[in-house]
Amino acid sequence: MAGIGVLGGTFDPIHLGHLRSAWDVADALSLDAMQFVPSYLPVHRDTPQASVDQRLAMVRLAIADMPNWSVSECEIRRGGPSYTVDTLTLLRNQVGLDVPIWLLLGSDAFEGFVRWHRWQEILTLANLAVMVRAGVPPVGCIETQRLLLDGQGELASDCAGQIKLVPVTVLGISATQIREAVREGHAPHFLVMPAVSDYIRQQGLYQKDK
Ligand code: ATP
Repeated sequence: MAGIGVLGGTFDPIHLGHLRSAWDVADALSLDAMQFVPSYLPVHRDTPQASVDQRLAMVRLAIADMPNWSVSECEIRRGGPSYTVDTLTLLRNQVGLDVPIWLLLGSDAFEGFVRWHRWQEILTLANLAVMVRAGVPPVGCIETQRLLLDGQGELASDCAGQIKLVPVTVLGISATQIREAVREGHAPHFLVMPAVSDYIRQQGLYQKDK
């Protein structure tokens, strides 16, 4: 098996920036499957935002045409702050030891990776696919740079411990921008999948007075 990709996020809502980068990584690494992991979010009182079920529904709609792409409810069902190491432990137990798992990370996230909870353990569970703009390597502290050079060195296997920089199409889209646009009465066409745009309208998501 070539491997399974894992992309975590709030996905409030999932947009073409997420989808295109996931596709670029899946394509570059010939991944067999991609798992989207929406994170648990505390309810913010001041921002109209989608519920857990609505965020899950939007991810499902967005990836409906991709046969081997799926959504994991594990962080949402676990509730509270969720650690990537727990999510990956669960997935590793499900898929066994012989399947490469690739955790997709934006450049910014990678730069802070060495401050993540039990980050060394993450590298025993998964490889990292660091999504970069073509020709722009991530910067960061010395520890991050060393990690980039060495990966886990001799500990690395096909299944975990490797770090690869994967160039992705950079689309200047953010969920924040989409929520604001909808709030101001603009449709999010061509920023999200059409089914997600329809869903946002039907559910009255991100509107001013909600
Ligand atoms: P928000 O604006 O609400 O902070 P977001 O658009 O950044 O949301 P998240 O759900 O927080 O989306 O992002 C999940 C993951 O997707 C993160 O790793 C983030 O780096 C990545 N990501 C977000 N937007 C893009 C984009 N336009 N292109 C590529 N990756 C993206």
